[in-house]
Amino acid sequence: MKSGNTKNFINGEFEVNQEKTMDVFSPLDGKIISNVPLSGYEALDRAVEAAEAAFDGWSNTTIKERVQIFYRYRTLLEKNRDELAELVHIENGKMIGEAAAEVDKSIELTEFACSLPQIIPGEIMEVSKGVECRTERAPLGIVASITPFNFPNMVPNWTIPNAIALGNCMILKPSEHVPVSVNRLAELLKEAGLPDGVFNVVNGAQEIVEAICDHPKIKAVSFVGSTKVAKIVYKRATSNLKRCVALGGAKNHLLVLPDANVKMTASDIAASMSGCAGQRCMAASAMVGVGEIDHIVNQICEEARKIIPGENLGSVISKEAKERIEGYITEAENQGAQILVDGRNVTVKGSEGGYYVGPTVIDYVKPEMAIAKEEVFGPVLSIMRTETLDEAIAIENSSNYGNAAAVFTQSGGLARYVMEKASAGMVGVNIGVPVPREPFSFGGWNESKFGVGDITGKTSIDFWTQMKKTTTKWNAGARVNWMS
Ligand code: NAD
Repeated sequence: MKSGNTKNFINGEFEVNQEKTMDVFSPLDGKIISNVPLSGYEALDRAVEAAEAAFDGWSNTTIKERVQIFYRYRTLLEKNRDELAELVHIENGKMIGEAAAEVDKSIELTEFACSLPQIIPGEIMEVSKGVECRTERAPLGIVASITPFNFPNMVPNWTIPNAIALGNCMILKPSEHVPVSVNRLAELLKEAGLPDGVFNVVNGAQEIVEAICDHPKIKAVSFVGSTKVAKIVYKRATSNLKRCVALGGAKNHLLVLPDANVKMTASDIAASMSGCAGQRCMAASAMVGVGEIDHIVNQICEEARKIIPGENLGSVISKEAKERIEGYITEAENQGAQILVDGRNVTVKGSEGGYYVGPTVIDYVKPEMAIAKEEVFGPVLSIMRTETLDEAIAIENSSNYGNAAAVFTQSGGLARYVMEKASAGMVGVNIGVPVPREPFSFGGWNESKFGVGDITGKTSIDFWTQMKKTTTKWNAGARVNWMS
């Protein structure tokens, strides 16, 4: 399927591409599905101009009015769920059911934005007799959101509904590898009644991201992607005195104790490491087994063998990604790790040009190996072994990352101990993918996130707004002390 050219969306219109463009490939078969403009400063300037012109009108509506757009947007996401899922499937390569779940998550995120009027009312208090203090939230102005390839529909919706419902005008820069879904989201926002200029899309790669970080009229930048680029964006945006929250990569550890429920643990871990072909920042990547856990490892292998590329396992994003992932597996093998289930060199009949890696389980990985420390971002589980729970926690704690961690056990006390000791922003107990659902917020620790607050949920409200504190006195005879 060819999905048409991707275009910049500025001031409510799709532009004719004038910049140089790049081909977009479907990882399912390696065929060209679209092309995307590689924009720079000039396109960004036009988007900023449109956002600036729209800001007065948009921020002068009440939040109750603004969320009406998102009630309609939510309905449109639901109505077009199958088509949106198909776009994600084609451009990202994940299975259609996974893509539909991604759209469902976008719906949930939009529902949270619709509830903002119930959450954000300010406070008021009489601080001296006749003198009142009140707080209220104001939008920042023009804000930007830069997104990665792995959730073409959901990650943009981490930021679009909240930032815009809170009164900001947004410029979104999707991943150049998966720009098609955002094109469609722009159409749906317009159909929902969002005024022109409130939401704009500029496409491209490094140059446009740098332009966003430098643009003097952009007040805040949210970023989701690899740690390497998160650091660049966080440093550049904050050195230009912008607010920034930059979510980076992950290496999630699952600590497994011998008393864990075997079937549930094995199926959860296999699903966590292989879902979306392991291209989730919440994916199980490193398992640390404590003591005698062969019975659980065997069951994980049994579950992994039921995962068939092209049937219930999607592709990875590119040829380079496939080569990188297989390179990690081969290096670990050469260093003495045991490959229990091998996903290298698989092809899918009828989709020979696709970039598939089969489920891979590697045992006796050592903590110092690259595969144990670095983000692999493929359907690969590395198993390390320790004698004690404290050794397992020490391995988890030594990671540069800190997105998610989980423990599998029947013991409440030991689970509680791991909850306290894990150095990660999102912790699971007997859950392989501990994504906090709305209204809880999403964000990791350490090098998995730079900046204060999380990107979704309640803490994102602080990121997208500034607080105004007003003191009033209408009673001329009010007693006034030296403080007010
Ligand atoms: P990426 O860092 O390569 O790209 C992310 C964005 O940055 C894209 O829009 C891209 O165009 C831009 N970019 C790439 N290189 C750049 C550079 N040198 N300078 C400026 N901008 C640049 O990430 P990706 O490969 O698209 O996504 C996968 C990564 O995202 C993984 O590391 C994954 O863990 C991470 N991720 C993290 C979370 C989270 O919540 N922490 C969520 C999803 C994905």
